[in-house]
Amino acid sequence: MKLYNSATRKKEDFVPIDPAEVKMYTCGPTVYHYAHIGNLRSYIMEDVLEKYLRYSGYGVKRVMNITDVGHLTSDADTGEDKMLSGAKREHKSVMDIAKFYTDAFFSDCARLNIKTPDVVEPATNCIDDYIHIIESLMEKGYAYFAGGNVYFDTSKLEKYYIFNDFNEEDLAVGVREGVEADDNKRNKNDFVLWFTKSKFEAQALKWDSPWGVGYPGWHIECTGISIKHLGERLDIHCGGIDNAFPHHTNEIAQSEAYLGHHWCNYWVHVLHLNTTSGKMSKSSGEFLTVQSLLDRGYDPLAYRFFCLQSHYRKALVFSWENLSNAQTAYNKLITRVAALRAEGEPDAAALEGLKARFAAALDNDLNTSLAVTAVYDVFKADTTDATKLAAVADFDTVLGLDLVRKAAAKRESDKKAASAAGAGFAVVSESGESDAEVEAKILARREAKKAKNFAEADRIRDELKAAGIELTDMPNGVKWKRI
Ligand code: AMP
Ligand code: ZN
Repeated sequence: MKLYNSATRKKEDFVPIDPAEVKMYTCGPTVYHYAHIGNLRSYIMEDVLEKYLRYSGYGVKRVMNITDVGHLTSDADTGEDKMLSGAKREHKSVMDIAKFYTDAFFSDCARLNIKTPDVVEPATNCIDDYIHIIESLMEKGYAYFAGGNVYFDTSKLEKYYIFNDFNEEDLAVGVREGVEADDNKRNKNDFVLWFTKSKFEAQALKWDSPWGVGYPGWHIECTGISIKHLGERLDIHCGGIDNAFPHHTNEIAQSEAYLGHHWCNYWVHVLHLNTTSGKMSKSSGEFLTVQSLLDRGYDPLAYRFFCLQSHYRKALVFSWENLSNAQTAYNKLITRVAALRAEGEPDAAALEGLKARFAAALDNDLNTSLAVTAVYDVFKADTTDATKLAAVADFDTVLGLDLVRKAAAKRESDKKAASAAGAGFAVVSESGESDAEVEAKILARREAKKAKNFAEADRIRDELKAAGIELTDMPNGVKWKRI
């Protein structure tokens, strides 16, 4: 498989350290609000990557953090803790907010068929690990204490920028929007490892440390959690593109300074979901959630399908019109799968041919849009329905679109509708009761009408009316009720 590595800016052959256990780390959500569908684009694409690695025969251990402390409203250590903002907004405790939005995140993931990673670790669970790493960075001279906080000294690195060749001037503190100068920093890119002096009041969660009571900076959690669960060398680290700088850049700085060697081999960044008016962001408070899609009658999996139709390294523009088109295409796809008859055994050679095309698409830097085309190619293939159905089921272990299950449900509901229509005439009571005598009279009335004996038909209606039964004629039958 070839994967684009943002650290080298090249598509590279993916060669894991140990194919039996690819070590994959994902930056998890900051749980101060619902995840928006932009965040979820990143998680959908990372889910496809994990599933495709497994499909290709690798074992995978995937770890995700949950950011429940230390992520300030600006990524550059200024503003207040986002968790505290969430707690204030909802008049709840930080831990209540964290629990509520962590649960909400995983229920959204479930609705989008995003598998829960093997290990999910809240940042607040691993404070001792961060303290240990920060102590070691202090001992090695990579960190310093100033004004009550511990900072990482970026001047000690040979190379700081990994993902970009930023014009240094653009990054000067005080120049970037929303970033205040911090006089404690020796270099403009230095970042906080441990806070004891916040620039805001009332940080909710604090722990004892060798530098005083305080809390960790945002970046250290991913280094600590990843090393704790995946060891000293990572195969893949992923996240949305906004995480590349400063978050991932700082993760690399502190991890490699601590470990004393190269840390992660492949960096995978998902480009943003944008609205027609710009980036979708949680902090602006105006964003769409999985619930917003449900409220408008969309299937969350139609949104997953929409994401898969484009490549993860291209920005994707969301509009309701685009989603409607995806929903229509998704429904048609299910209808086509439902039309396949699963009789007989699949043809092994034909199945291998179809699978090869699907794999070739994903082997090319996870080209999901070509992988979706490979699904359509299945219907055109000159082979049996059983083979086609086997191919669709196989591909769906990666695509996660529930194609086979939804097709089976569709066949079932189509069958019910057809049997009602096929009988040509339904007799139903408004209350749901059944009464053989009444039903027999209604059927006799129908026979009379068919024979154009309208006098007899009217007589039966009157007789029923006298017995307290009122009839309503419908296109395919008769509804009756007691009056
Ligand atoms: P957060 O909860 O803000 O820490 O972000 C969770 C994940 O969503 C991170 O990997 C972000 O990089 C990613 N992300 C944030 N905004 C977007 C967006 N508009 N489109 C795609 N991914 C995003
Ligand atoms: Zn992270």
